[in-house]
Amino acid sequence: MKNKLLFLGPPGAGKGTQASLFCKKYNVEHLSTGDLLREEVSTGSVLGLKASEIMNKGELVSDELVLSIVEGRLISEKKGWLLDGFPRNLIQANSLIHLLEKINQPLEAVVLIKIDDQFLIERLLARGRQDDKEQVIINRLKIYRDKTTPLINLYEKQGILKVIDGNADIDVVFSCIEKALS
Ligand code: ADP
Repeated sequence: MKNKLLFLGPPGAGKGTQASLFCKKYNVEHLSTGDLLREEVSTGSVLGLKASEIMNKGELVSDELVLSIVEGRLISEKKGWLLDGFPRNLIQANSLIHLLEKINQPLEAVVLIKIDDQFLIERLLARGRQDDKEQVIINRLKIYRDKTTPLINLYEKQGILKVIDGNADIDVVFSCIEKALS
């Protein structure tokens, strides 16, 4: 099973759920920048407070901050890893290329979970996290479209993109991912 991975998809696609399932089953480190940032917020640090303001608007926190979080984790990682929520724009994608070269661990596959727009907002409103309010969701979707979707092209050109249909039950989607990464 491949174990140097990146999961891509809009908020609400089920990316985090699938990433958790995969990491548990295959003993891979789950690096979710959203979760790591929320951890930082919960400590009440100055950095966390600044991040939470940005996250609650649905904007992206600074590239430097997320990069430093990811770098610290990846460098110490001995088993495989799965990046979830990073990179989110081209600057971060370029930083990732350099970082992976430095640690000599090339990315093996990128999983893109696709889902019909109509389900996204419904799913997110049902989740009810602090940044799951309608206006904030709309902003996050817009940022995903503008900033994150250009990465799809990049990974497609590298020949490592696996497109997965996310409009199905959790276990069905999971089997598709396993098949794509085996
Ligand atoms: P979702 O995938 O549902 O959008 P996440 O938990 O991945 O949720 O991210 C929540 C918020 O955390 C984002 O809206 C953003 O403010 C911040 N964030 C997470 N990852 C990054 C990143 N790589 N770059 C900048 N901001 C990020």
